[in-house]
Amino acid sequence: MNAEILCVGTELLLGDTVNTNAAFLAKELAVLGIGCYYQTVVGDNPGRLKSCIELAFSRADIVITTGGLGPTYDDLTKETVAEHFGLPMELNEESLVKIQNFFCRIGREMTHNNEKQALMPRGAVVFENGCGTAPGLAVEENGKTAILLPGPPREMRLMFETGVRPYLLKKSDRILKSRAIHLFGIGEAKMEDMLHDKIKDMQNPTVAPYAKEGEAMLRVTASAKNEEEADKLITPVVDELCGILSEYVYGIDVESLQNALVLALLEKNMTVATAESCTGGILSARITDIPGASKVFGYGCCVYANDAKVKLLGVAPDTLKAYGAVSKETALEMARGARHLSGADIGISTTGVAGPDGGTKEKPVGLVWVGISCEKGDAAYELRLSRGYSGDRGIIRNIAASNALCYAIKTLKTL
Ligand code: AMP
Ligand code: MG
Repeated sequence: MNAEILCVGTELLLGDTVNTNAAFLAKELAVLGIGCYYQTVVGDNPGRLKSCIELAFSRADIVITTGGLGPTYDDLTKETVAEHFGLPMELNEESLVKIQNFFCRIGREMTHNNEKQALMPRGAVVFENGCGTAPGLAVEENGKTAILLPGPPREMRLMFETGVRPYLLKKSDRILKSRAIHLFGIGEAKMEDMLHDKIKDMQNPTVAPYAKEGEAMLRVTASAKNEEEADKLITPVVDELCGILSEYVYGIDVESLQNALVLALLEKNMTVATAESCTGGILSARITDIPGASKVFGYGCCVYANDAKVKLLGVAPDTLKAYGAVSKETALEMARGARHLSGADIGISTTGVAGPDGGTKEKPVGLVWVGISCEKGDAAYELRLSRGYSGDRGIIRNIAASNALCYAIKTLKTL
């Protein structure tokens, strides 16, 4: 079974909208084990849309479209697909009621053209839109399947998860199960180098590496008759990979570093406090992004100026004078200060040169110190985060916060 992704919308061709739908769908298809050999983008033009649909069906069993399901005259995907299959359009009462209810809920009057969204090709399977008006649908004819999804990414994703994924899984008598190993501090190239021989010929489960901003992920996916059989295939591979990469693994099936930290703190019934200079609150923001963070986090100090480091955290003026704000000694005193001020189990600090100005030969842009203070002792870690291009500042600050989270997770494991 193979699929093609066809994204419809003139805004995509003009570069006004980034085609995030294609990236999302491509990843999801890969996880489902459905091959995807082509992605196409076409504008809101009936003739060109028609020829794209014909071309797509000449080489794929399933064509997934996004966009063009709206109420206006330039939303043509449904009509064009119906025409391709030679199916008449019929009013779907259930969808009409749902659209009417949606407008009722948001307190707006429904205009006549919204009814167009309840018209479906005869025999279509309808996917409910959980956060908008345009329902999605699937039609099957002669072994070919068209799946039509709305353009807005939020609506498309929710619909994929609640409607399309189960629909696609039903088409096959096997199930797919994945586990994700999350890693930090290892680049894609090194990971590839360490694992290449191990994973290159793996068929079931497959191991797919992903990388983004300092983080990496390995998705281990098995195809099996049932969950139990899938687990039997996945578990030994996950264990082996975690063994090889143990110093970089921060969690399995966790969403993010901050998630892993909050979970680890909850598990140990411990708390953290932050003292941030160069990250200016990013670290606290990422921790408090996680629902339930209030149980593990109470104090976050943003101490940008030296004066603030002294007044709020008790950093010694002599330390600042002798070593400077960006130093191991200051990072340690900041972390200790945060811990004592708050009474938390762990204090985390960041201090560094985010740039683009302010770097010197000894302390270049990208030099960051992370301090960790806990009952067992204090430690500071030196980072060199500059990639040497403009726009570095945001990356340096974010990766500094990621490192701080990672060191806190590692410290927790020893407590
Ligand atoms: P449509 O359903 O075609 O009316 O699209 C509605 C909106 O969804 C567009 O104006 C875009 O902002 C967004 N959108 C459509 N297609 C995509 C896509 N492939 N990737 C990301 N956003 C999209
Ligand atoms: Mg459109």
